Amino acid sequence: VDRAVGELGYCHTGAGFLVALICRHRGEEPVLGGEKGICNVFFSHCNLHCVYCQNWQISANSEESLGHELAFEEVLARVGSILDEGVSHVGFVSPSHVIPRMVSLIEALSRRTPKPVMVMNTNAYDRVETLRGLEGLIDVYLPDLKYMDSELAGRLSDAEDYPEVASRALREMYRQKGSRLWLDEEGMATSGLIVRHLVLPGQVENSKRCLQFIAEELSPSVHLSLLAQYRPTPNVARDPLLGRRVTQEEYEAVIEEMERLGFHNGWTQELDSAENYNPDFRERHPFETDG
Ligand code: SF4
Repeated sequence: VDRAVGELGYCHTGAGFLVALICRHRGEEPVLGGEKGICNVFFSHCNLHCVYCQNWQISANSEESLGHELAFEEVLARVGSILDEGVSHVGFVSPSHVIPRMVSLIEALSRRTPKPVMVMNTNAYDRVETLRGLEGLIDVYLPDLKYMDSELAGRLSDAEDYPEVASRALREMYRQKGSRLWLDEEGMATSGLIVRHLVLPGQVENSKRCLQFIAEELSPSVHLSLLAQYRPTPNVARDPLLGRRVTQEEYEAVIEEMERLGFHNGWTQELDSAENYNPDFRERHPFETDG
């Protein structure tokens, strides 16, 4: 749709900067956060519609989604003040529906010295042409790989074509970055690709297929972040499958597959991390409990 004349499409995003939160976040992978944390810019709304979304307060494609219409200079100033505290990484969270906004921020922030490390935290429902246009601008790609099962992707995220779209997107990110994750002297990532996968309750087979895709179509040397932090949100609290957490057996079955496939770079989580990832975006500091 033409957002410039006020039309709203699937993601319900207008022409301006609708931002849910800009904060210093210490809950990311150690190479992205470290002690200092990362400056995360959480965009409101999303180009997917996952029924179990862990950030449901800000991702809904409706008026109910939390967010503030900010001027570009205001966004830049808020990010800048966090970077001034010694933070070196900027994470753009769920930017797929606002790529031109993200690019304008990257261009402005790149003029800073030292230049921050730009991290694209995406659901991977991205077009290859878009990603080609980001080559050289994004330092670290941080995509999810959610599903390799079209029926599941249609049912849970309203996107049956997710497996094809995301697999093409991941191949493109891998073409740009390869398997190596470049680190600075403090062990913080400066360039590369880290693929996240959130294990869902009752969906071990889907998780295995996602890992198989990464190992077989990309490489088992890719850095993998296997997330156990799923917790039911109010939207799915009564769902027979999604209304519970992942069990130890389910998570271990996925870890076994990860080991069988030869992954040797990345991170797993403790099952009780679901306790830690419970942001409330109505609060001033939604991630206060993150370690
Ligand atoms: S892609 Fe991520 S942010 Fe978007 S609705 Fe799904 S889980 Fe939420």
